[in-house]
Amino acid sequence: MANYITTKWDVIVAGGGPAGFFAAIRCAELNPNLRILIIEKSSQTLGKVLISGGGRCNVTHACFDPAQLISYYPRGGMALRGAFTRFQPLDTVKWFETHGVKLKAEADNRMFPVTDSAKTIADILLFEAKNAGVKVHVGATLQKVEKSPRGGFKLEVRNEANVLPLQTKKLLIATGSDSKTREIVKSLGHSIEEPVPSLFTFNVKDKRIDGLAGVAVENVTLKMDSITQSGAMLITHWGLSGPVALRLSAWGARILFDKKYRSSLTVNWLGDYKLDATLEILQRNKDWHENARKKISAQPAFSQIPIRLWKQLTQFIGDKNWGDISKTEMRKLAEELTAGQFEILGKGQFKEEFVTCGGVNLDEVDFKTMQSRIVEDLFFAGEVLDIDGITGGFNFQSSWTTGWLAGNAMSSS
Ligand SMILES: Cc1cc2nc3c(=O)[nH]c(=O)nc-3n(C[C@H](O)[C@H](O)[C@H](O)COP(=O)(O)OP(=O)(O)OC[C@H]3O[C@@H](n4cnc5c(N)ncnc54)[C@H](O)[C@@H]3O)c2cc1C
Repeated sequence: MANYITTKWDVIVAGGGPAGFFAAIRCAELNPNLRILIIEKSSQTLGKVLISGGGRCNVTHACFDPAQLISYYPRGGMALRGAFTRFQPLDTVKWFETHGVKLKAEADNRMFPVTDSAKTIADILLFEAKNAGVKVHVGATLQKVEKSPRGGFKLEVRNEANVLPLQTKKLLIATGSDSKTREIVKSLGHSIEEPVPSLFTFNVKDKRIDGLAGVAVENVTLKMDSITQSGAMLITHWGLSGPVALRLSAWGARILFDKKYRSSLTVNWLGDYKLDATLEILQRNKDWHENARKKISAQPAFSQIPIRLWKQLTQFIGDKNWGDISKTEMRKLAEELTAGQFEILGKGQFKEEFVTCGGVNLDEVDFKTMQSRIVEDLFFAGEVLDIDGITGGFNFQSSWTTGWLAGNAMSSS
């Protein structure tokens, strides 16, 4: 715990999340003489780390090419391009390994601690902060910041009983998606991109997917307005989920917010199949003599579509055999398979990961140092910035990268 007789600090980090801890540790390791304090408004630090990745913490993603890595960020990719050449997932893996935590990559390239426990990640950050001499105070909320005329900042920090006046030479804002802190950031002259949720599932009520919760299709293409995404999809009790739905929700976060989470959605159950190619395959199924007396509903024309889903997508044809399907029915089926029309009726919850898009305008931050271009000695890291990635460890990676860069820059006081 911090000694509150000390009101003067070299570096204060507002926000005891992954970005704040990573920055503080890096800064303290580079310059052990600095007095560094983390203030955290809730009673526990690293709260999101502990619940992340379904309790396993998806720390980063095994994508080690910065040019490719940025394609996973619907917002902030361009700004992160240079930052990732300085600290990228490979550096994250090495950092944790050097500090005694081994990470493993799963088949889809998501990386977790080998312990499969988020606590391993929170524990090592707490341990290294303490080891490096970083002070941490919980239950302390940053509520006001003023630039001092002689340099540095005067802060008002509220704990249970008092408002504490603190002074610091450098200030890092790493408060995540906290709305009140965004007002403080605005009061310092920064502009904020309006925050809206990202990474959610879609509520869809439709008889074609009714009763199919748990059915997965390996490669589906979803299209909403000008946004197209492909990948695995999962049908749930409430609608549509799985990697492709989450990716669409991230890229379409602003559009869907503006539309109040109601939109039409085109589903190609066959991934990238075009209408003509699909019609050809359906025609071959009809022409194949062995099929003539087999029920369409019992004999899927495409192996990638699970039989239960196929039955419901072909329901409009009734009980017909392949030999009896009409040209019009065949065309309608091809359309259903490659461009099925669905309605998104609302936003569902994805429990394993959730982020807010929006935050501090990226043009106002120097991504070599994470220092504000508006206020000297003010720094930003993590989700407070207008950066968000798709699901898969990309959100923590941007916290590690921006935290590490801020830690480097702040160490030189
Ligand atoms: C359920 C869930 C699961 C997730 N799983 C993953 C995952 O597996 N992989 C992944 O990459 N991403 C995941 N994410 C996203 C990831 O947690 C965030 O991107 C990341 O935590 C952002 O880090 P941060 O340090 O910027 O902010 P935060 O983690 O939000 O930390 C900010 C801290 O600042 C504190 N604070 C706020 N305002 C003040 C103030 N005024 N004064 C003092 N303190 C303040 C907050 O209490 C908080 O502790 C998940 C998110 C959720 C909600």
